[in-house]
Amino acid sequence: MGCSIAYHLARQNVRVILLEREPRLATGATGRCSGGVRHQFSNPANVQLSIASIRKLKNFADELDCEIDLHQDGYLFLITRAESLAHFRKSAAMQNALDVPTEILPVEKIGELVEHVNLGDVLAGSYCREDGVADPNGVTLGYARKARQLGTEIALENEVIGIRREGSRIAAVCTRSGEIATRVVVNAAGPWSAAVGEMAGVEVPVRPYRRHVFITHGFAEVPRNHLFVIDFDTTFYFHREGEGVLMGMSDPDEPSSFRDAVDWEFLDRVTEVGVRRFPPLANASIRRAWAGLYEVTPDANPILGEASQLPGFFLATGFSGHGFMHGPVVGELIADLILRRRPQIDTSGFSLDRFAQSKTRSEANVV
Ligand SMILES: Cc1cc2nc3c(=O)[nH]c(=O)nc-3n(C[C@H](O)[C@H](O)[C@H](O)COP(=O)(O)OP(=O)(O)OC[C@H]3O[C@@H](n4cnc5c(N)ncnc54)[C@H](O)[C@@H]3O)c2cc1C
Repeated sequence: MGCSIAYHLARQNVRVILLEREPRLATGATGRCSGGVRHQFSNPANVQLSIASIRKLKNFADELDCEIDLHQDGYLFLITRAESLAHFRKSAAMQNALDVPTEILPVEKIGELVEHVNLGDVLAGSYCREDGVADPNGVTLGYARKARQLGTEIALENEVIGIRREGSRIAAVCTRSGEIATRVVVNAAGPWSAAVGEMAGVEVPVRPYRRHVFITHGFAEVPRNHLFVIDFDTTFYFHREGEGVLMGMSDPDEPSSFRDAVDWEFLDRVTEVGVRRFPPLANASIRRAWAGLYEVTPDANPILGEASQLPGFFLATGFSGHGFMHGPVVGELIADLILRRRPQIDTSGFSLDRFAQSKTRSEANVV
């Protein structure tokens, strides 16, 4: 988010300083994510963010002169409960109205898309051929490099430790290496956004939740393309990654925390569910594993725009498991909001104020 916002502002000749506490970029949620990009959301505003973002990812090589390994081999949700099927049918109709070619597939058709998957209990699939996967590090570094060329200063190992206010306005950002006078700050601190909000006296309801990723060595039945398969009702998912597969699953019983070490016992639970759905996984060995943090809001939608109680304090956070795919367009939207231009997508439904006003509409398609 930070790199995309910096690039989109620098493109408009705005002077930006990107402050990153770590010695490298993309060590937070972005560098640990699964790379999925999809249109299949239940909230139309999220579908609009995806349409605009995926368009930008398709043009990335031309615009940013950087390869991002984008494969649009589709996302396939496997649906096993009648209630979920009704929900996906409704979402598909809404997506189709926005020109997204999502299809509800009968079980016979699913077998044409992916082999060796156990479809015994599956009622139908929700499939969009324009969804896919891309490289999160490539996208981040592509934006960072271009932002630097356009004059952005990227200050690594420079933690933000405070935000100084003068009355009802921002006066400066306090960092480990001194103060930077500014009237405008964007909080794009991902899972750590609540702490940065607190520095400015703004309550940001974003909480961290650990999520695991496991990558296998190659095995005979590895899918031929990069189709992203999600067993919706268990949240188990996988897609091809290199010679093996990348897989993950959420743990609804795990409380919010900043722990990001791998819990190897959780692999047993992922494997049990995974082998039931994709039996060849029983022959696969694990090559790598890591854990990262989702940055989750109460309604699983992002928080975008200026905080009404503190002019100049902008938020781009709370993406609740789908921020990588929305980074490209969010950079442009935040730049437009800062420059007081009308953004291409109405972001008012993503304002911080919605929580106080109880005007929330939860996103249902989260894993
Ligand atoms: C396992 C996993 C799988 C995921 N899969 C997907 C997926 O398939 N598709 C998808 O779209 N999304 C996915 N996500 C979600 C996605 O990764 C995030 O929504 C997105 O990366 C958030 O980007 P960000 O820039 O806001 O946060 P981050 O990438 O976490 O960046 C925030 C940065 O702020 C820095 N920072 C924090 N506090 C300070 C401070 N005080 N001073 C200076 N710097 C600070 C951090 O060091 C960090 O580098 C996944 C997430 C995880 C964990």
